[in-house]
Amino acid sequence: MARLVMKFGGTSVADLDRIRNVARHVKREVDAGHDVAVVVSAMAGVTNQLVAWCREAAVLHDAREYDAVVATGEQVTAGLLAIVLEGMGVNARSWQGWQLPLLTDNAHGGARIVEVNGAELIRRFKELGQVAVIAGFQGLHKETNRVTTLGRGGSDTSAVALAAAIQAERCDIYTDVDGVYTTDPRVVPRARRLEKIAYEEMLELASLGAKVMQVRSVELGMLHNVPILVRSSFEKPEDIDPKKPPAGTLICDESEIMEQQTVTGIAFSKDEAQISIRRVQDKPGVAAAIFGPLADANINVDMIVQNVSADGLTTDLTFTVPSSDYERARATIEKAKSAIGFERIDGATDVAKVSVIGIGMRSHAGVAAKAFKALSERNINIRAITTSEIKFSVLIDAAYSELAVRTLHSLYGLDK
Ligand code: ADP
Ligand code: ASP
Ligand code: MG
Repeated sequence: MARLVMKFGGTSVADLDRIRNVARHVKREVDAGHDVAVVVSAMAGVTNQLVAWCREAAVLHDAREYDAVVATGEQVTAGLLAIVLEGMGVNARSWQGWQLPLLTDNAHGGARIVEVNGAELIRRFKELGQVAVIAGFQGLHKETNRVTTLGRGGSDTSAVALAAAIQAERCDIYTDVDGVYTTDPRVVPRARRLEKIAYEEMLELASLGAKVMQVRSVELGMLHNVPILVRSSFEKPEDIDPKKPPAGTLICDESEIMEQQTVTGIAFSKDEAQISIRRVQDKPGVAAAIFGPLADANINVDMIVQNVSADGLTTDLTFTVPSSDYERARATIEKAKSAIGFERIDGATDVAKVSVIGIGMRSHAGVAAKAFKALSERNINIRAITTSEIKFSVLIDAAYSELAVRTLHSLYGLDK
């Protein structure tokens, strides 16, 4: 007998039929004798609608009220699933973030989990054999007694945090794909499903654009050593034998992965914007004068490239920011113009960042150089590059992003 956390995302609970399907997955594990805590997302599209209503109500709105609104989506699903489970003869009770409680800081809209109390759930497993159905994505800031949310995709993080709190044997992330692939299978049909992926690699994949897991959930899994299994909710519950090892992708410690490839996966993101500051005076303190105000404005700068300007006397500084911060970043630089000293700002939002990830890069040289050559043969111009121990990223024209992903996917032998 084991203790399991089962998390179901928006498409998996999109309507009552799918919620019934989820209930059958849950019943299967309960019948196999497991203690089960289920974490659910809002029904597909609901969170987007709630977010849109907040914006429509007022472009600039209080983040506390945004959370009051968007946290409701998960509450509905949790209640509905508990009702359906009860109807199937499974003892179940729904829980909202404040009821557990799942405590967070007060960064409304993107709160971090501080503490999860699983004691009452464990008592009910033991004494009542009761399934807990938990509304994902939401928590409570204790000091102000306000509901918080964990950022988009945050139910993954609720699930992993809960798994750590109740010492679950595994956290199953049920979604609309049957595992983690070498790249987004909806974009590259030749993508291959991975048997296993190391926490660190998944962390990079997620941070660099693969939305299959929220970044913070992987961080938490790594910190608490929670085995995470990404699997399909669309596989028929009746076809799964709970006694056999389940199909999916296991996110685990790298020591558990026998055959390490040099490159594990490729991620891409179109949520980037490029800013180039032309003819900056080449003197000490200029980088600080540029990046200081951006940091103060809470704008995350990612790739940075500096090169000599066309006049040979000054320098050009290029960097990327999230596209949602593009206008704000330009305005921030413009405001600091006299302190920085430059001629003009150029920018582009039609850019994409393509990233290649693999723990094997630590011990293999020349992995990135191969990519630069392959991209140049396709006439794909690289605007900026960043590298770290287990990944490198290139910034290119957005129009070429899919070609670039496919090219690199084949180059590193990842095709099916
Ligand atoms: P959920 O609603 O269940 O949380 P998400 O939409 O957040 O599901 O995440 C699943 C989606 O992630 C898939 O439909 C897929 O298109 C996308 N995705 C992006 N990169 C990958 C990848 N490398 N492997 C699997 N899925 C990926
Ligand atoms: N419903 C929330 C969202 O759409 C949280 C989640 O699904 O994980 O972002
Ligand atoms: Mg998700």
